[in-house]
Amino acid sequence: MTQPLLASHLLGSALASAWLLTVYAISVQSMVIRRVRANEREAAVAWWLGGALVVGTGIWAGSFLTLVALKLPVKVGYVRDVVMASWLPAVVVCAVTLWLQTHVRSSVKLRVMGGILVTLGLCMLMFVNASSIMIQPGLLWDGDRLAAAVATFLAGSALGSWLLRKDLSRPPHQGRHLAVAVVLGTVLWGGMTLQVSSIGVAYNAVCLSADQLSGESLQLVLTVAVLILLVMTHVGTLQDARALARAQVLSESLQEAKEALEEASQRDAVTGLPNRLGFERQLRDLIEAPRDAALHLCVLRLNVDGFHAFAATYGHALGDNLVQTLALRLRGHVREGDVLARSDTDEFLLACHGFSDERAMTVLAQRLQESVHVPCLIQDQDIVVSSSIGIARYPDSASAEQLIAHSNDAMLTARRAGGGVYCFYERGMDRAGAAQVEMQRDLRHAVERQELQLYFQPKLRSTTGDLAGVEALLRWHHPKRGMVSPAEFIPVAERFGLIGELGLWVLDEACRHLRMWHEAGLDIPVAVNLSVHQLRQPDLEQRVREALHKHRVPARMLIMEITESVAMEDIEASLRVFDMLDQIGVRLSIDDFGTGYSSLSYLRRLPARQLKIDRSFVRDLDSSLDAQAIVEAVVRLAHALGLKVVAEGVETQDQADILAQLQCDELQGFLFARPMSEHTLLNWLRQRGKPVPPTQVRQEASPTGARREADDDDLVTAWSDLEATHL
Ligand code: C2E
Ligand code: MG
Ligand code: MG
Repeated sequence: MTQPLLASHLLGSALASAWLLTVYAISVQSMVIRRVRANEREAAVAWWLGGALVVGTGIWAGSFLTLVALKLPVKVGYVRDVVMASWLPAVVVCAVTLWLQTHVRSSVKLRVMGGILVTLGLCMLMFVNASSIMIQPGLLWDGDRLAAAVATFLAGSALGSWLLRKDLSRPPHQGRHLAVAVVLGTVLWGGMTLQVSSIGVAYNAVCLSADQLSGESLQLVLTVAVLILLVMTHVGTLQDARALARAQVLSESLQEAKEALEEASQRDAVTGLPNRLGFERQLRDLIEAPRDAALHLCVLRLNVDGFHAFAATYGHALGDNLVQTLALRLRGHVREGDVLARSDTDEFLLACHGFSDERAMTVLAQRLQESVHVPCLIQDQDIVVSSSIGIARYPDSASAEQLIAHSNDAMLTARRAGGGVYCFYERGMDRAGAAQVEMQRDLRHAVERQELQLYFQPKLRSTTGDLAGVEALLRWHHPKRGMVSPAEFIPVAERFGLIGELGLWVLDEACRHLRMWHEAGLDIPVAVNLSVHQLRQPDLEQRVREALHKHRVPARMLIMEITESVAMEDIEASLRVFDMLDQIGVRLSIDDFGTGYSSLSYLRRLPARQLKIDRSFVRDLDSSLDAQAIVEAVVRLAHALGLKVVAEGVETQDQADILAQLQCDELQGFLFARPMSEHTLLNWLRQRGKPVPPTQVRQEASPTGARREADDDDLVTAWSDLEATHL
């Protein structure tokens, strides 16, 4: 008969090794969980598998050492294959624990099931461990202690789940980490010790595996080998954490650099405002913002008229100064939530919200224009600029791209209208815009490719029919389009900042012809047309002087025509320019009279010498008494103001007769001659009995002939015989 003998004795050193390995394994386990969580998919799987193997080995070694600690009354040996087989449940238990802990969102149900599985695994591990001792009769188990061990495993799983979750949800902290490992490791070790201590043997028990692996050798090998393994893994986790932290810092600084670059690429260096890119991004944000913010959104594109000519004349530093001053002023109109940007050298974009009606937008546009128009004191110079504004509304223009493009179309239309105005986007503007953009591209090369030419249209005295002068009219021989009308390309040149260059070319060319004709014995005053943009050119006086000096032409031979609407639009600027040109001696003429709204008092103040009645009045002369009455009144008014009157667009003899009767001084129109090339003009003159020496003129016409520069004295004395007998 056999009596159970409960093991009453456990070996202290083996138990200590078991505790050490178990606590260390738990500690490494939490480090591995952090690695699994921190790494990308493939590395995470590798950490999970490797971690399960290493930590499982640690738990297995710890559990086995608790069995080794069991001191039985017989000499005990452990069957090697069974010892090895018990390793598997340990690894599975760890794999499950790692999986549960790395899947942060795993449900309570799943965690409970995981806890039971871990408990079963641990029990199984201990039973397999114990079965490595082959003993006859078999091992005896104390039921109460076994139950206590199972309860400890269960409690340990629950506590482990909770503690690890808490610990891992916070940044790593060594003290806390160690405390968790000690608590959990000790609970686990306690359960294992309880389970082992429930083992007993009969008095007459014989160990059949006594000659197999001995407890002492197992204790040493397992402790040393597994400790090394755990230490290596520990170091591995630390290295990985450091490498990841370095990568993180690197990627953060890269991200910062990228953001800084992005920020710089979206900012204008001169004004500090967002540039076009930045504006687009912020506009998109505004549109995508909750409905209220996007409602009543509008984009205003403000173009500084004639900026390119200004910068070309005064230099880019002064141009930058001007832009900075304007940016500061525009900022004054920006409310919270609006976006102001500098989208181009001479352009600002403003996105404003909360504008429910067109009137409010109009008021804003006018205010912007007023503040731009206030003189800027830059390097002791008073600079006055005007602006053209295009306005697009959301949701009529339904996206950021459309708002930007449509505000551009509207702005171009405003510039086409002569600048200094605002314009709302309407459908169809974009098509016209595209064609004009193409035209300006070609126009940029027109001067250098010698595609431009001056035509001349004679003006005749109404009383004698003598030649009073010619009007120089610009022609563009486009290689594909053929002859392009100035009515078409002059507005494009104005809109795209090319008029300054074209105007100078015309001025130079007109003076060159004046000189050539004079040397051929022909003194014909030439009238050139001035654009509104040239009127605003601060160096116009200088340029006119230079052209006259260069060709040694007396100023009185030159007439400058400015259309009435332009002259009256910016009266102060017109007065300034007219006065300045008058002082040089250049004569001034008000073109297309009747199409603008002249104020009599201003008309009196303008030092003009000539007034050209628009052809729309002349056209109706022979059919409408009203037209006759108007022309008569204009002639009278002009004469009272000391102005000569020229009638444009005279096409019929009847019109010419009526105009002569109404005492109009000069006549210009197809009835007498169309605008023609210099060559045709000279032939025309010859036909009318003017002596024109052909060879001399043709030689001089060569633009390559060197011209003598003249000084001021030359200018005063040149053609002194040519007093103003023509007007
Ligand atoms: P504008 O200064 O009023 O020039 C008169 C225009 O009337 C010319 O048109 C001329 O060809 C046309 N014309 C003359 N007589 C008659 C006629 O009997 N019947 C009709 N139907 N038309 C007549 P063009 O040459 O096409 O020039 C149009 C406008 O382009 C000019 O009007 C002027 O404002 C502008 N322009 C022409 N050359 C220049 C230039 O060099 N600089 C600037 N800024 N503008 C220019
Ligand atoms: Mg004209
Ligand atoms: Mg005209």
